[in-house]
Amino acid sequence: MTTESIIAAERAHTAGVYPKREIAIVRGAGALLYDAEGREYIDCVGGQGAANLGHAHPAIVAAISQQAATLVSCPEIFFNDQRAAYLTELAAVLPTGLDRIFLCNSGAEAVEGALKFARLLTGRTGIIAAARGFHGRTMGALSATFEPKYREPFAPLVPGFSHVPYNRVAALAAAVNDQTAAVILEPVQGEGGVRPADDGYLAAAQQICCDNGALLILDEVQTGFGRTGRLWGSQHSGVVPAIMCAAKSVGGGLPMGFVALHHSLAALPQGSHGTTFGGNPLACAAARAALQVMIAEDLPGRAAMLGAHATARLRALHAPVVREVRGQGLLIGIELKERVQPYLQALMAAGVLALPAGPNVLRLLPPLVITPPQLDAALDTVARVLAAGAA
Ligand code: PMP
Repeated sequence: MTTESIIAAERAHTAGVYPKREIAIVRGAGALLYDAEGREYIDCVGGQGAANLGHAHPAIVAAISQQAATLVSCPEIFFNDQRAAYLTELAAVLPTGLDRIFLCNSGAEAVEGALKFARLLTGRTGIIAAARGFHGRTMGALSATFEPKYREPFAPLVPGFSHVPYNRVAALAAAVNDQTAAVILEPVQGEGGVRPADDGYLAAAQQICCDNGALLILDEVQTGFGRTGRLWGSQHSGVVPAIMCAAKSVGGGLPMGFVALHHSLAALPQGSHGTTFGGNPLACAAARAALQVMIAEDLPGRAAMLGAHATARLRALHAPVVREVRGQGLLIGIELKERVQPYLQALMAAGVLALPAGPNVLRLLPPLVITPPQLDAALDTVARVLAAGAA
């Protein structure tokens, strides 16, 4: 199929909720993507965070192929070998104490689970989230998400949710009380503009929760699995939350998410939550391979090293359009003084795919396997496009 025919066919039947760019991606290899005409792009979208291991990693391809020929479906009413192995291997690398795991299929679903578990475990209803926070689009996750344009068309949302400014300890302390089930925060706010937690903020949030009998939920859907230079974003602060959510790349590119609960929490009642595809053997086999690659190739270390290099290069640019460069590891935000959309278009025309994070932040989320020459080539293009200014 040509780009033109692919676009026409999608347009004919899509529900239409996604703003789309006029290219059709048909193949990937590592940090490179190819369109229907064979044009190559350096991928700094990274599957919106789902491609930390790059595209078509041979270990993931082998694991998926082998498991697809063995067993794909096995709901959690039965036990399964791949799931058993994955739970064991995952628990061994989660922050200490987070060793009760609920497997699901996406970030929003992990957040939904975390919110339900927090209400169940505390018997309270209040959920406090942060301004500029993003937690997903389902009704519960959306209630925790801040952006009014995502929320308002769907009101009324779930009762009991409120928002406080991020990185403001006093505002959080004033908001948490004996009705609060949970505080939900991202270690780095991703969609909200790539804003890392200040030193001490997550620890203070943990203490405030502790003092009030509330649970701290860390949403690691974007920061987790190597992205920020540690396996989990919380490891920069040393804070172990009561509940942690992850998704995106944990399934090696297949849809997967999980909620990890601290072992000091009470057991969840049987039948209190569930999902058909959760913990399916195919996703578990892919996730096992993804975790093995993550550790064997030290992708968190690579993200730290390449992220420091990229951030230093971007900070040295001094392009008039750049207000600030922020980030952690290979989660990088370049705040512009103008709207970002024309710059994303110009980058795409120059062979680099990148993301926005809000209206004026350019976000780079490359696969962690990106090679130094590929990253430098992408940064050269970013520098050229930013220096040229909006068309
Ligand atoms: N939480 C965070 C922090 C996210 O960045 C995202 C997705 N960008 C989500 C939740 C929702 O994940 P999903 O799109 O898989 O539902």
